[in-house]
Amino acid sequence: MNAMNEALDARMEKRRAQNLFRSLRRVDSPTGPVISLEGCRLRNFSSNDYLGLACHPALKEAAARAAAKWGAGSGASRLISGSLGLFHDLEDQLAAFKKTEAALVFTSGYAAALGTIASLMTSADIIIMDKRVHACLVDASRLSGATLRVFAHNDMNELEARLKWARDPARTGSSRQQVLVITESVFSMDGDRCPLTEIVTLKNKFGAWLMVDEAHATGILGSDGRGLADALGLSDQVDIHFGTLGKALGSSGGFVCGSRVLVDYLVNHARSLIFSTAPVPAAAAAALAGLEILLREEGSRRRNQLFQRVQELLAFHPICKQEEASAIIPWMVGDEARAMAVAGFMRESGFFLPAIRYPTVARGAARLRITLCASHSKEDVEALITVLRSPSLPQETSQTLST
Ligand SMILES: *Cc1c(COP(=O)(O)O)cnc(C)c1O
Repeated sequence: MNAMNEALDARMEKRRAQNLFRSLRRVDSPTGPVISLEGCRLRNFSSNDYLGLACHPALKEAAARAAAKWGAGSGASRLISGSLGLFHDLEDQLAAFKKTEAALVFTSGYAAALGTIASLMTSADIIIMDKRVHACLVDASRLSGATLRVFAHNDMNELEARLKWARDPARTGSSRQQVLVITESVFSMDGDRCPLTEIVTLKNKFGAWLMVDEAHATGILGSDGRGLADALGLSDQVDIHFGTLGKALGSSGGFVCGSRVLVDYLVNHARSLIFSTAPVPAAAAAALAGLEILLREEGSRRRNQLFQRVQELLAFHPICKQEEASAIIPWMVGDEARAMAVAGFMRESGFFLPAIRYPTVARGAARLRITLCASHSKEDVEALITVLRSPSLPQETSQTLST
């Protein structure tokens, strides 16, 4: 082995020893309730395609038509070679959906986070975020150079303490730093919600900006799936509505919704937009078709189907109240090695559930992340419950039922 490969291999040996090694598992089927993974057909409880739109005929057809009409690629950044009308149509629809003045689409949610946070905040500013927010929000905040403060998950006393600190005149003197609060509405690895009403009260009290990542609430919560801010009547209190087109919307890409000024600012400053080739036309067309379905009766039918499955699983694994549920239901395991053993057992039993480990979650907080989709049948959930009940499930997991 050459020097680089040796060094990399040595680093990975540590990961292996800690049961933290990851590898890509080959799938040869479309995403859906059953997938073909490394030659095995498995019931799939790992996808964020919550409404089953990724393989919906309307989205596939929209993507195929867009590719036929506008091409497979976009050719350049939207600021270089002109901005395809399809993106403007999608942004108009997203803004209307989120009840904001404007919207801006990026190639991914990750790119949207980097471009948005790193252009809005500078090293003179302060970002205060929930401890459990998604890695892209953390990376973006670091990239911005802002001072970063974290509050314990959903801990409003700690958020208030951080805001007080940020606004303390003894510390800041006459300079007024900009403060941005970042949270998720539905947390990606826990499936629980943030206390958005309290967060809005605090951000107003201290004159901070608020960014809410609705990646796991868009399409799921609120009227027609507009998200948690809409469900609570707080849409106009959120400065930056953040989301992805890659989950319930069944396509690919990320977006920000907010004021016209915000979007104009991002067009001028967000480097992941300016210096990156535009998303492919097919992705925008599929997202438009996905949005259209959300607004139709079919959208609420699919949401009801999803929550029916959620209810069935919660009846067995009551981690939260029905009215606080999302499509994400974690099965807490704790130890990383045991999480791998449980995931292995599940796979042998015909189920694909990813073991979520450090660094995605804290050390010792490993879990199986169960995600439910509208395309799951009642029988899928019953089969899952049967295996989770099995006495051969690697030890000490069934006791986590009582959370
Ligand atoms: C998936 C996800 C993102 C990133 O979105 P992509 O479009 O997949 O890049 C951002 N935030 C949260 C909470 C997510 O779960």
